[in-house]
Amino acid sequence: MTFPEKEPKTAYEASLRRISDLARWRQDNLGDLPTIASEEILLRGIRNLITELPERGLGLESTMDHLLQEVLPTLAQGHSGPRYFGFVTGGCLLSAQLADMLVTLLDSNVQVHLIKETLATLVEHHALNLVLDLLELPRSDFAGTFTTGATASNILGLACGRESVLERVMRSNDEAKDSETGAFSLAEQGFGPGVAKVKVLTTRPHASIKKAAAIVGIGRANVLETSMTSNSDPLLEPGSEDLFTCLDFDLDELERRLSESKQKGEAPIVVLGMGEVNTGALTTQTPQVRALCDKYGAWLHVDAAFSAFMNLVPGYEWVSHHLAMADSITTDGHKQLNVPYDCGIFFVKKPQPCQVTEDSILEEVFGTGKGGGPAYLSAGPGDPEGEDEDEEEEGEEGPQLTRRLAYARGLPSPLVRNIENSRRFRALPVYAALLSQGREGYQEIVRRNVDFARSIESWLRESEARAKLYQVLTPMPSEERKVDSVGQNHDVFNTTVVLFRPHPECPNTRFRGVDGHLRLVDAIKKTAKVYVSPTSWQGLGAVRLAVSNWSTGLELDRDGQSEDLETTKRVLEGVMLAAM
Ligand SMILES: *Cc1c(COP(=O)(O)O)cnc(C)c1O
Repeated sequence: MTFPEKEPKTAYEASLRRISDLARWRQDNLGDLPTIASEEILLRGIRNLITELPERGLGLESTMDHLLQEVLPTLAQGHSGPRYFGFVTGGCLLSAQLADMLVTLLDSNVQVHLIKETLATLVEHHALNLVLDLLELPRSDFAGTFTTGATASNILGLACGRESVLERVMRSNDEAKDSETGAFSLAEQGFGPGVAKVKVLTTRPHASIKKAAAIVGIGRANVLETSMTSNSDPLLEPGSEDLFTCLDFDLDELERRLSESKQKGEAPIVVLGMGEVNTGALTTQTPQVRALCDKYGAWLHVDAAFSAFMNLVPGYEWVSHHLAMADSITTDGHKQLNVPYDCGIFFVKKPQPCQVTEDSILEEVFGTGKGGGPAYLSAGPGDPEGEDEDEEEEGEEGPQLTRRLAYARGLPSPLVRNIENSRRFRALPVYAALLSQGREGYQEIVRRNVDFARSIESWLRESEARAKLYQVLTPMPSEERKVDSVGQNHDVFNTTVVLFRPHPECPNTRFRGVDGHLRLVDAIKKTAKVYVSPTSWQGLGAVRLAVSNWSTGLELDRDGQSEDLETTKRVLEGVMLAAM
């Protein structure tokens, strides 16, 4: 579709022009925009933001003036730029950005599957399949849905896990079972006397796991850490006198807890973080953890919010095989996939053997259940009634079209597979980004992110002078440690995070002491050129630099060096050596 150019006449047209000018200017300058707003601008915003509902509306033009002049400057302009290394925020690929604008323009609602009217739900289905392709997970094994982020995906994971493990544990409980179906479904029957307790066993979970446990009625107190500690792992040298938790599960402890749960008639879920939140390091324990889950009937949920796509990096292909062992998987669109906020992705194992369209546990939990759904949300006649239309489509592409139509007709409505009924068309930016990048494009992005992080790490480690400024806390892969006496693999697979802290004896005394890392993070952030966030690791305050933007390291200077890398190094060194 193309449209004639037109001089703006209405307020809408004029505002549209301003926004497209802004988009163009922003894209040209993204690398130089401040990663945080200045104090002066923030104070002005705090003064000028409108806090009372106007009785008479300001109208489009004045509202746009307010947004562009007063609100926009107060937002961190460079937040999606190449040197924003806080949290794991990702950026926004241009294809995804533009697709997202289309989503807003069309105001599509991905809710009821109505393929005689709109293909939004079909695009969503295809987008999920393309994500599975990128992850190298078999399409036949997983059903999926888009969410608002990894937190929502973790909620879905615990909700599905809870449903499945309770169904199994309660099967032998005659009182609780449904008299008609002979099965127990928490989604149908709810909690009541005699319903088994659900336990979540995990190691160093992201905070959203406890949130998910709170929401789905498991309870935060039932999320238990079974982490390897500095005491239980004789191969790790303690970084401090304190007891600290390490990356991996203590598998003996996990088995002990699972066995105890079984004896008590509890329903266990194991949550494995693929990509530890502070260090970004991957665990290689999935096969052992899977075996324990099988032995004790536990659900295995893998939170791979920012590391799922590590399978695209040479030497990390095993990540796909490990993800494939999960019963459910969380990953994020707005992190490494670089689509705009908000977008999360959730996959769950389909019952096997399975056709594409077979009911999954998603429908058990999020569907309408025994009573059926409201009539006004039904998708109308499904497959059988539609079949006679196929006969019109004979000819060259007839059979393929017939197949595609039959497939498309058989898909469920998204509203029975997710929390929301009405939902933003988040799939379109994902679809656009995957088409625009292809596997190779994403391979380059993820590799560039990993290379960038590892370049910063080796730069911090490489010179003696710099080692007196900074201590690197990112775990080091080490040959001797590969397998310990009980067959545990301790090898470290780092990803896109660098963890470091000011050296306890660093020349700049401001950055010494327990809170030194916080003052350092502040000083780095104040440059507005580089953004990092604080954390703590093994009892020590630390600075976390996480790389997840598609454009980081893309621009090269005249010597072929990455401009972002040079700027980041300059800031890290400059801040440390600044006048004390
Ligand atoms: C970011 C993250 C989350 C939370 O994701 P949101 O998209 O912010 O909801 C959960 N788990 C892990 C491992 C994460 O990195």
